[in-house]
Amino acid sequence: MKEHQIETIAVQGGYTPKNGEPRQVPIYMSTTYKYDTSADMGKLFDLESDGYMYSRLANPTCDMVAKKIAQMEGGTAAMLTSSGQAANFFSVFNIAGCGDHIVSSSTIYGGTFNLFAVTMKRMGIDFTFVDPNCSDEELKAAFKPNTKAVFGETIANPALTVFDIERFAKAAHNHGVPLIVDNTFATPVGCRPIEWGADIVTHSTTKYMEGHAATIGGCIVDSGKFDWTKYPEKFPGLCTPDESYHGVTYTERFGLGGAFITKCVAQLMRDLGATPSPQSAFLLSLGLESLPVRWERHCSNALKVAQFLEANEQVSWVNYPNLPSNAYYELAKKYLPKGSCGVISFGIKGGRAAAETFMEHLSLASIETHVADSHTCCLHPASSTHRQMNDEQLMAAGVPGDLIRLSVGLENADDLIADIQNALSQIQ
Ligand SMILES: *Cc1c(COP(=O)(O)O)cnc(C)c1O
Repeated sequence: MKEHQIETIAVQGGYTPKNGEPRQVPIYMSTTYKYDTSADMGKLFDLESDGYMYSRLANPTCDMVAKKIAQMEGGTAAMLTSSGQAANFFSVFNIAGCGDHIVSSSTIYGGTFNLFAVTMKRMGIDFTFVDPNCSDEELKAAFKPNTKAVFGETIANPALTVFDIERFAKAAHNHGVPLIVDNTFATPVGCRPIEWGADIVTHSTTKYMEGHAATIGGCIVDSGKFDWTKYPEKFPGLCTPDESYHGVTYTERFGLGGAFITKCVAQLMRDLGATPSPQSAFLLSLGLESLPVRWERHCSNALKVAQFLEANEQVSWVNYPNLPSNAYYELAKKYLPKGSCGVISFGIKGGRAAAETFMEHLSLASIETHVADSHTCCLHPASSTHRQMNDEQLMAAGVPGDLIRLSVGLENADDLIADIQNALSQIQ
């Protein structure tokens, strides 16, 4: 399917029914699989034959959907996880352990920042956070002898910075480590990080990929391009025998295209069990079928709303990468030629109080912590997620008191603008 365009893969990738089989991906709600002999099953446990043994490790429905996403990203292998958090955790923990170090962009999702800076730190993994606009010297200085990967988000949630994937990939490769890119906000329709040098791509499929605010999920895709065997001392888990799997060496047995994902399933999914439900994978698959069509609408709606906000005198600032006034406009043109997602942030004159009044008077845009689904929603961090902070602390966190995050959905753009216009008119 690789030679097809993304719209075709989104609909037909991952599953091709044979004569008389169901057209739609079947949901295999089965925890376990039946075998005729113990020897047949033994081969599975030794990773010597293909097949399913237990749905904590792998399930046919989940595999078909993972395969579709691998094709959409242009990767060689993929796995689904129960959430985006699990995907980012596994992608790093698969190649880094106690005593290792990771270089990460500082403008990443708050949940990922907490995972890295608090929870994984407690596991003995050290992180250096770099400004995505840092100089080449600053970036170079962030690497240490024990650095195992570089991490960033294509479009950061919620900062909306655009990550210079090519630049960070070069820096990572110069230091003999892979670049991991969280492509959640861009989706493979907006940007395919592997084409710009990323080695591993992760997703919270909870957002645009599933797209309807129905299920939590995640995904990890391997490009198959990073040559772990060039640095066996850095990546012993991939290049030396795994005693918990009868001495299999993942790079030897599964090649560069399969080693990373096979190890991640065989060790991390086996031991940590962040398994998606086949039912959730099915809903994700339905979402993926329409993703290219939905993506266009999210982007065109958001651009119209962003242009309206920028022209409104009650609005003090607008952050949307596709506006020519934006600091990331050039990077967005390069990496996100089809648009830069549906999320906008902006400030209203009158600060925190005006923002609260504005939000109370919206009727179509609902107040939610979620983003990136078909329904337009918004959040005022200063009065909700960040309400314990005073104005000074908010500024330091990059979340000014007047900041409103708006996730533009699939409704009619004129209706959304009328709703915003009405709420603005309620501010005294
Ligand atoms: C939401 C999100 C996550 C976490 O995903 P969950 O599915 O909520 O666990 C990770 N990265 C980014 C960029 C996100 O937006």
